[in-house]
Amino acid sequence: MSRDPRYDVLFEPVKIGPVTAKNRFFQVPHCNGMGYRDPSALATMRAVKAEGGWGVVCTEQAEIHPSAEITPFIELRVWDDQDLPMLSRMANSVHEYGALAGLQLCHNGMNAPNLYSREIPMGPAHLPVASIFNDPVQARAMDKTDIADLRRWHRDAARRAKQADYDIVYVYAGKLFGGPMFFLSRRYNTRTDEYGGSLENRARLLRELISDVRDTVGDRCAVACRISMDELIGEEGFHAAEARDVIAHMAELPDLWDLTLSSWDNDSQTSRFAEEGYQEPYVLGVKQLTTKPVVGVGRFTSPDTMVRMVRQGVLDFIGAARPSIADPFLPKKIEEGRLEDIRECIGCNICVAGDHTASIIRCTQNPSMGEEWRRGWHPERIARRASDETVLVVGSGPTGLEAAMMLGRRGYEVALAERGTVLGGRVAREKLLPGLSAWGRVADYRLGQIAAMPNVTLYPGSDLTADDVLSMGFGHVAIATGSRWRRDTVSRNVVTPMPIHPAADVLTPDDLMEGLRPNGRSVLIYDDDHYVMANVLAELLVREGYAVSFAMPTPDVANWTRNTMEQHRIQTRLIEIGVTIIPQRVIRAIGAETATLACIFTGREETIEAQSVLLVTSRLPERQLFDDLQHRADDWSSAGIRSVTLLGDALAPGTIAAATWSGRRFAEELDAPRSDAPVRFKREVAELLPFDVRAIIDATLPQAPR
Ligand code: ADP
Ligand code: SF4
Repeated sequence: MSRDPRYDVLFEPVKIGPVTAKNRFFQVPHCNGMGYRDPSALATMRAVKAEGGWGVVCTEQAEIHPSAEITPFIELRVWDDQDLPMLSRMANSVHEYGALAGLQLCHNGMNAPNLYSREIPMGPAHLPVASIFNDPVQARAMDKTDIADLRRWHRDAARRAKQADYDIVYVYAGKLFGGPMFFLSRRYNTRTDEYGGSLENRARLLRELISDVRDTVGDRCAVACRISMDELIGEEGFHAAEARDVIAHMAELPDLWDLTLSSWDNDSQTSRFAEEGYQEPYVLGVKQLTTKPVVGVGRFTSPDTMVRMVRQGVLDFIGAARPSIADPFLPKKIEEGRLEDIRECIGCNICVAGDHTASIIRCTQNPSMGEEWRRGWHPERIARRASDETVLVVGSGPTGLEAAMMLGRRGYEVALAERGTVLGGRVAREKLLPGLSAWGRVADYRLGQIAAMPNVTLYPGSDLTADDVLSMGFGHVAIATGSRWRRDTVSRNVVTPMPIHPAADVLTPDDLMEGLRPNGRSVLIYDDDHYVMANVLAELLVREGYAVSFAMPTPDVANWTRNTMEQHRIQTRLIEIGVTIIPQRVIRAIGAETATLACIFTGREETIEAQSVLLVTSRLPERQLFDDLQHRADDWSSAGIRSVTLLGDALAPGTIAAATWSGRRFAEELDAPRSDAPVRFKREVAELLPFDVRAIIDATLPQAPR
């Protein structure tokens, strides 16, 4: 198949200064938790995107100097020539598949606590660092020597970018990560010299850095400026009118404008809080300020929206981080007219959580993300089947669907049995909760793929027992039967069940998703899960007229969603809809129409009125079928069964991303030779420098006086 001509415009080459991108698909810089620790994994992940058709593939922010490093987060580094090999590995890998490689130079300025280098951070003014952990570190105000140093570091880093064969070199003034942004923002920049005060003065450093990079590498490399269009805090911050003035003021200086919102949580909003294309109002009109190409983002997954962005003169390049993570082959699929194969990002920000936890990137929709190099997983391809065995998958949640789809791609004969009449397991239910409709894409994509596979058959309405499974004659059985929310108080902070009065009206999330409702109008939600379930159910109950209180052991609601950058939005929403928040309490007892809570610090107890209690504590695996089959292990061989494997939430309840990953792993490893290797994935262990302990301790370190 070939592409629909209405998408031709997306495949036009676009000139960026001295280089030309082959199309308008632009993977903007994005963090990934791999950086300097996993350079080959990183290079492979980026190369797969180039293979998938992205015209430009950029790095994440790459720290240019030890005076601005953001430990514990793991990014690339351009500190000195030692970093060149890993930098060129990424550029060369991307070139291999015909994309331009972009390097985002970054001096994080006063965003960097420098916990590793222990250098004093620098910014426009004497202020505590703007890091997310409230580190007890202050930045010092930069003097003229510091500014000269910063300019030199940018020139040096740009030279290295060129040496490492990058095509596009960024100066970064966005998201309150790129140091020059702190100069742009009047709330941080209180200087009285020529770098503070007027907008022209606040923009002086950015202008100088762009000019420096351009003078250094502009003959061969394009120079991009990534700039924040708004901090979304009104005139106190760097706002839309100022951003436009800055762009107008230096319109032709860079070769490309890359537009973002600040900070990162505004730039990468989840689908619960923002629709596709949500940044359009902030970038509209920028193209009229410059003749240089403009790239912007907005979780674009619809080719028609992309075309509109270009045709209406909003953007020249369709920028993407998350859509390129969920589907590295998005451009190829549009090019080949395979729109139904696009694996749309669900906007959950689990990918961001990988970076926030300094672990390797992961994706709910694309379980191969981050696993390309270390496990050899590809987003589109998988090895052919290694035997003629047939496979039964039980359960059609994200685990079962992913396993069945990938086994189908491998060429196995697969049957997928589901107890319910609706396929999709947890996502079929969770997508109906407030704000989570995009989560349904996890099932939609997989069911769409399976529909085109003659070797995968779906059996909804099949509640299988061990007898059924033993009578069916499948060689391998995957049990992906999911989990149920607990009806007691046991979870992370309360690990023994607390007393519950027999007359108490206690509900679980499953009850609500199955249509049950509290008996009383006043409901206490107790959340020891800390992710989204408790707070989306709070929204649901408030919408239906219940008076909701919300107690949890943490200081803030949905504490873990700091990692998906949603926490403040969730808490704001709960406050605004009138939920009473009771922080730092654990549950001690549930009475007939009361609940007893204890302060996590003092243990002091209080009893509050609650006609009904919704417990969002933890989940128990649904493993009855698996256990029954284990008890019948002696019957397996006569039934032709070679293996029974427990997967996904039925093995250990987790995120949807963990479920799709588990299904993928089963499909990848079926019929693989058994391995007892302790580490079953590749890792990159740094080469050690020459070392002589005597020479270091006796000869180099100061000796004790004799
Ligand atoms: P996961 O996240 O691991 O995919 P889910 O809870 O989303 O788990 O899905 C599990 C699915 O398994 C549910 O749709 C459930 O109805 C189904 N299921 C559970 N037990 C059986 C069974 N014995 N036979 C068939 N389907 C089952
Ligand atoms: Fe999109 Fe979620 Fe994947 Fe991130 S993890 S790319 S938000 S589907």
